[in-house]
Amino acid sequence: MENPELSFTLVYTVFAVCLIFTPNEFRAAGLTVQNVFSAWLGNEDIGFIEHHLRRTSLTILIHSALPLGYYVGMCVAAPEKNLIYIYQVTTYHIYTALQSDCHVTVTESRQHQLSPDLTSPIEILTLRVESINPAVRPFNISLNSADYTDFRVKLRAPIRTSPNVVIHQTISELFLETFRAQVELNQRYKLPNGQEVEPCIGCMQVPASTKLVRLCQTAGMDNESECQPCFCRPMWCLFCLGRWFASRQDQQRLETWLSSKVPCPTCRAKFCILDVCMVH
Ligand SMILES: [Zn+2]
Ligand SMILES: [Zn+2]
Ligand SMILES: [Zn+2]
Repeated sequence: MENPELSFTLVYTVFAVCLIFTPNEFRAAGLTVQNVFSAWLGNEDIGFIEHHLRRTSLTILIHSALPLGYYVGMCVAAPEKNLIYIYQVTTYHIYTALQSDCHVTVTESRQHQLSPDLTSPIEILTLRVESINPAVRPFNISLNSADYTDFRVKLRAPIRTSPNVVIHQTISELFLETFRAQVELNQRYKLPNGQEVEPCIGCMQVPASTKLVRLCQTAGMDNESECQPCFCRPMWCLFCLGRWFASRQDQQRLETWLSSKVPCPTCRAKFCILDVCMVH
C-alpha cells in the first residue's frame, strides 16, 4: 500500500463503525459483543438483569478502548508517522501533542537502585510536554536517561533542562554523540534504485539509516585492516548501531573505543567507525 497510515485509518474506521452500529452482515457472521462473549455474559433467559448489566458494561469498555486500539495499530502500520506526535498513554487518558507545537522541559531527575546487582543506579527523567495549542493540556513523560540522547535527536522540538536538574548520562550515551559526529564525516551510501528503506530492526521507530561499506582499506588508512565486507542491506539506525558499537567496547579502556573494530550486528563481519555510511 502506498500510504499505510491512510489505509490503516480507513480499515479501522470501517471496523469501528461496524462494531458500534453492527450491520446485519456482522450479525449474521456472529460478530456481536453478545455473541463473542456469550460464555461470560451468561444465559439471558436464566439471569436477564445480570446478562444485560454485563453486556452494557462490556460494550462501554470495548467502545471506549477503540482509540487506544487505533493507536497501537497505527504504531505497527506506520511507525514513522507517529514520530510527528508525542504520546503518553495512561490507564484512562491518551495524551498527544504535535511535536512541532511543543516545548519539552526536563523538570526532574531521580536515581533508582532497582537491584543490588546493578553497579550503577537507573536514572529516570521527568519531561514536561507543553504545547502552544491551548486545546492540548500539558503532560509529563518519564524516560530512562540511557534513552535521553536518542530521544533528543529524534524529537523535532526544542528541549530545555530546568536549572536545578543534572542529567547523569552514561559514558556510552556520551560516546553516541562522538560516534554520530564521526559518521557524519564519512562518505554517504546511495541506496540502489527501487530499494526501499525499512524500519530499523533495533528500535522499529525510525528508518534504517546506515550501511556498512568497507572504506577504511580503500582509503589507505590501514593496510593491515581486519575489517571485512558486509553485504547486509541497511537495517539499523545510527543510534542503534552506535549503541551496539559502544556495547562491544572495553569499559575500562576508553581511549581504544574510536579505533576499535566490532562485528556487524547481523552478519558478524568486522567493521570500524570509518566503515559506517549514512544512507541517502
Ligand atoms: Zn534504531
Ligand atoms: Zn553485515
Ligand atoms: Zn574498517
